Amino acid sequence: MKLSQGYWQTYKETPNDAEVISHQLMARAGMIFKSAGGIYNYLPMAQRSIRKIENIIREELDKIGCFEIHMSVITPADLWMETGRWEVMGPQMLRIKDRAERDLCVSPTNEETVTDIFRKTISSYKQLPLTLYQINTKFRDEIRPRFGLLRGREFTMKDAYSFHLNKECLDKVYENIYQAYVNIFNRMGLDFISVEADGGAMAGGGAKTHEFQVIADNGEDIIVTVPELKYAANIEKALTFRDKLDFLPKKELQEISTPNQSTCEEVCRAHGFKIFHSLKSIALTSITGSKEENLLVLVLGDDNLNEIKLSNYLKCDHLRVSQNTELEKNNLIKGYMGPYKSHKNLRIIFDSSIDLNSSYVIGANKIDTHLRGFVPSRDCLKYEQVDIRLSKEGDVIDNFKVVIKKGIEVGHVFQLGDKYTKSMKATVLNSQGQPVTPLMGCYGIGVTRTLASAIEQNNDKDGMIWPAAIAPYDVYLGAIAKDPEFKNFVSTIYQEFITNGIEVLFDDRYMGPGPMFKDADLLGLPLRIIVGERDYQQSKDIEIKVRKSGEVFKVKKEELLTFVKKKLKELGK
Ligand code: ATP
Ligand code: MG
Repeated sequence: MKLSQGYWQTYKETPNDAEVISHQLMARAGMIFKSAGGIYNYLPMAQRSIRKIENIIREELDKIGCFEIHMSVITPADLWMETGRWEVMGPQMLRIKDRAERDLCVSPTNEETVTDIFRKTISSYKQLPLTLYQINTKFRDEIRPRFGLLRGREFTMKDAYSFHLNKECLDKVYENIYQAYVNIFNRMGLDFISVEADGGAMAGGGAKTHEFQVIADNGEDIIVTVPELKYAANIEKALTFRDKLDFLPKKELQEISTPNQSTCEEVCRAHGFKIFHSLKSIALTSITGSKEENLLVLVLGDDNLNEIKLSNYLKCDHLRVSQNTELEKNNLIKGYMGPYKSHKNLRIIFDSSIDLNSSYVIGANKIDTHLRGFVPSRDCLKYEQVDIRLSKEGDVIDNFKVVIKKGIEVGHVFQLGDKYTKSMKATVLNSQGQPVTPLMGCYGIGVTRTLASAIEQNNDKDGMIWPAAIAPYDVYLGAIAKDPEFKNFVSTIYQEFITNGIEVLFDDRYMGPGPMFKDADLLGLPLRIIVGERDYQQSKDIEIKVRKSGEVFKVKKEELLTFVKKKLKELGK
């Protein structure tokens, strides 16, 4: 594209709502145009990168025998009612009515549609396994759309769905798609890791699932890794252990006066205990269908509860903080809560890191009072113990320390089992002619989130630094010239590049060098070739700057094309 006739402009100002660097840079580099919160239009520079991301995904999925389809964005409510998700999806799902008052929604995901297609087009085991995918628009009415394309309401997703006769086959395809994802994100030049993720309470917490996380400071996900063990898990799922702790031996129970000391930190500081010599009591209520149950959950004083682990253990729909009336009913005194003298029917759950035979400081269920010398196994009548704590820095696995990182979830692979095929009565005939319910896997990649993640991970004070495989163009070619003849000379380079398949942005505007260098750096294409009339006339050298490394090379015009091709290849194009 020649910029003199092109559609591209940059901006000095960043929008007020642009909190993260990818959003700021994409706005400044004229890549996106906002219509409403979380709803963006993609301008040419973004669209070109999106196409490249999509094509890498397509190539890798087609290679392993997946079939691309295109499902309708608007789907009828009936399908969602079959699986019960019309209710479950809640306000995330944007619901609309047509002129005949029929309920429809804008697809937040497509399990229902793909299963409908499957059950009406596939009848025999011989047609399995089958993996269908699409790259399409999704809409999720997120509570807090933010961070530009990282968490939009309308976004582009690649979603794939596989169907299998048995678990063995599901495992195999899952593995193939997992490997395709590794190839996809490697080809895009991203620094990512795949992590074990939580399968959710619905699937018993045991469903096999991995997330692909791009490592970035602005990531919303916390990832727990142990490099020595090649262990990596989302904090929701991570199972790590406290490093050795010197707990207190059994002692007599004794009240201590703790006026205005309601947190573990305050009590321990005032009375000379180490923080993990206290137990944090959390009063929660679990909700499963119409059933509610009050709980008292305990972790070490400096630990936090992992609600997902607790929900999976309880197999509940969700958890909420217990209300005052529920505390009263269970003899729990706010700020001074503990299991001691609580109601005998209250369900008490200790985290696995607690040594049940040691002494702890806990709330005494009495105003301004705590107890020391509380020994769970001795002083509690009935309890359970299970891993419910959140992993954190300082934890270990097999004596290796964990390293915590922040990540952006760009991809997700998940074994769904028969959740959808069963509820939607999708069957195929097996080799004996019997109808059987196939198993499913689903596999997502956030295309537009991947684009923003790439920028999040690759930038400096001057702008973006595109990985070559997904850059909007390969080369920023600029001419600093007043003389039209010299501009024509640079134009021959432009033509030569185009003829040879190099994607080149030709800055042929009459700009001074300052603004041109600024724009070039902001856009951050892999190579920058700005040819100045005076310099060239003197040296006959053409200067090529690699955006990523900052290296500068000088070559003669005859060698330019070969050099550029070689460099782009080195950069991962
Ligand atoms: P998150 O936990 O970030 O909300 P999710 O688990 O709901 O995501 P999935 O249902 O697994 O997401 O969707 C598949 C992929 O779609 C995600 O891995 C992510 O890359 C992308 N994605 C999900 N929500 C959004 C969004 N609001 N904006 C942009 N991309 C998204
Ligand atoms: Mg997910």
